[in-house]
Amino acid sequence: MKDTYRHQGKRQQLVKTVKKKGITDEKVLAAIGKIPRHLFMDSSFEDHAYQDKAFPIAADQTISQPYTVAFQTELLEVKKGEKVLEIGTGSGYQTAVLCELGAKVYSIERQRELYKKTKSFLSKIGYRPKHLSFGDGYKGLPEYAPFDKIIVTAGAPEVPKELLGQLKVGGRMVIPVGTEVQTMTLFIRKSAKEFDRKEYGAFRFVPLLGDKN
Ligand code: SAM
Repeated sequence: MKDTYRHQGKRQQLVKTVKKKGITDEKVLAAIGKIPRHLFMDSSFEDHAYQDKAFPIAADQTISQPYTVAFQTELLEVKKGEKVLEIGTGSGYQTAVLCELGAKVYSIERQRELYKKTKSFLSKIGYRPKHLSFGDGYKGLPEYAPFDKIIVTAGAPEVPKELLGQLKVGGRMVIPVGTEVQTMTLFIRKSAKEFDRKEYGAFRFVPLLGDKN
């Protein structure tokens, strides 16, 4: 599990790329510049790890494109010490970005193989999310709610009401909504019953799978 000067150099190029595409949050850029993305992927993709692209991981899933990770994280406006719920742990890359921002991260993964692999990998490379869970992210984690922020990293055909209900008043949830193509959507909880909703263009994610699919 090496992180060489060559990797670090490519990482700085990746930071420039996502910056050019419009990411401005310096803390998010610093996290992208620090995290050894090549270690989160199968070694056969190592040479491509610092391209701004999604790649396959275990269980027919993907590690998201760095720009997408940065875009969602920037929208989330994470502050140190906040409780953040992530749906779709996957490779753990987004989890690591949230840890770098000082969040207390709770993350759920539906594929057992990925859950186990990523849990052991994250601790090996020194990332300590507060809680990693194997289960259905549609339900959130009511036992740990409410959360300051919620990020969904798979395409949701519809917005899970349970997740909106687990957001603090003043909290933000970033979720790609749609089937074939998803619209990146930000919810801000204004009161117990009121949410602001803003939309930010099209993205493509693997689907958020529920009990019926
Ligand atoms: N955050 C991940 C990363 O950085 O690698 C993104 C992984 S991928 C784009 C989305 C992940 O969501 C997959 O690992 C998939 O298994 C998971 N997923 C899909 N439906 C889910 C559900 N209902 N609950 C929890 N995880 C789910």
